[in-house]
Amino acid sequence: MHLRLTDEQKLVQQTIRKFVEKELMPLEYEVLKNEREGKPSVAPSKLKELQLKAKEFGFWGINTPSAYGGADLGQMMMAIILMETSKTFVPFQFGGSADNILYYGNEEQKKKYLIPTINGEKKSCFAMTEPSAGSDTRNIKMTAVRDGNAWVLNGEKTFITGGNEADFVMVIAITDKEMHQATKGREGVTCFIADRDMGWRSEYIHTMGEWGPASLIFENVRVPEENILGTVHKGYQLGLEWIGFARWIVGARAVGMAERLLQMAIDYAKERETFGKPIAERQAIQWMIADSAVEIEAAKWLVLNAAFTLDQGEDNRHLASMAKLYGANMGNRVVDRVLQIHGGMGYTRELPVERWYREARLWRIYDGTDEIQRMIISRNLMKGHVKMDQFI
Ligand SMILES: Cc1cc2nc3c(=O)[nH]c(=O)nc-3n(C[C@H](O)[C@H](O)[C@H](O)COP(=O)(O)OP(=O)(O)OC[C@H]3O[C@@H](n4cnc5c(N)ncnc54)[C@H](O)[C@@H]3O)c2cc1C
Repeated sequence: MHLRLTDEQKLVQQTIRKFVEKELMPLEYEVLKNEREGKPSVAPSKLKELQLKAKEFGFWGINTPSAYGGADLGQMMMAIILMETSKTFVPFQFGGSADNILYYGNEEQKKKYLIPTINGEKKSCFAMTEPSAGSDTRNIKMTAVRDGNAWVLNGEKTFITGGNEADFVMVIAITDKEMHQATKGREGVTCFIADRDMGWRSEYIHTMGEWGPASLIFENVRVPEENILGTVHKGYQLGLEWIGFARWIVGARAVGMAERLLQMAIDYAKERETFGKPIAERQAIQWMIADSAVEIEAAKWLVLNAAFTLDQGEDNRHLASMAKLYGANMGNRVVDRVLQIHGGMGYTRELPVERWYREARLWRIYDGTDEIQRMIISRNLMKGHVKMDQFI
């Protein structure tokens, strides 16, 4: 067992760190300004330019298989990269990637949807949640009824990330009501790829964050048979498995943000004087800094373990839930302490702390709430699916 990054991993970490410091952080002021004026945080043309710059360093399709032109760096590298890119709130994503669920498609679907998404020509979103089915995903109501060689979809999805911008959606609908009831929602549900021009529409949802998800409305939307992703009636497992393996990503984001914020708090505490001394000399402040540092470190190891385990080809879902639950909560505690250390300034829009505060709150809700992660973790242990010392 070796608990240090390899030379290659360190090189990647340093390269991304420089990229973030040199190319992304200088945009932060503009991002805050644009968002306050209700404009897109970064112009799409600027994002494209940044993606091409990153490509010059070999960062294109960081987790895309080489057969599709990607760098295929694996989960550990992705964790290392995400922890660096999350040190800024500039909404940057490397080019050349697609939602992994699209790799379950057949050759024709890959040509039509996966490859254009990797190339940045099409945008996708994934829609499971409905007004009456969030945590309780088995309670979905959207139906798909076969009509000739097409399926007719009716219903509403809600809170769909990227739903306003997407050209197509991977959407989950009930295709066999009896099977759905008999299997308590596990089967009788299918995943369809539905293009926007097949007739669904989206409505923006305002949130406390700086971007909004969408409701997607389906009224008699005809989706051809060949647009079924995976196997008919087996869409539920497909969707949940895909989500379950990747939950640690939220923890990685939290680590990046928290490291940056903690450094801001340390710098500020050394400068800000009250009653004749820098606040850094007060135990109350020191303890907030110490607790934050310990929790960041703990979250980092949980994230790396979840990513490493998946790279070994093992089922990482238990660890991914732990990294998500702990990371999301750690992020919220740290941003709250950092805001407190900054006093009134922390609450203003002069600093990005309040923005991060609002963004981090989402992490405890989407991709499975805190309560659902706790349910998964305790169920795995109590049912013996996972042993306490199984991984280390
Ligand atoms: C900004 C944003 C983006 C999102 N993006 C997507 C997306 O791209 N695609 C998608 O499909 N969905 C997406 N979601 C939906 C998200 O996954 C759900 O909001 C989330 O799973 C919670 O569901 P809910 O909102 O219906 O809450 P509910 O399920 O109604 O839960 C309400 C509360 O009850 C708790 N609770 C529920 N069941 C239990 C239980 N058994 N025991 C204890 N407590 C329980 C919950 O933890 C929560 O605190 C997004 C949500 C948001 C806010």
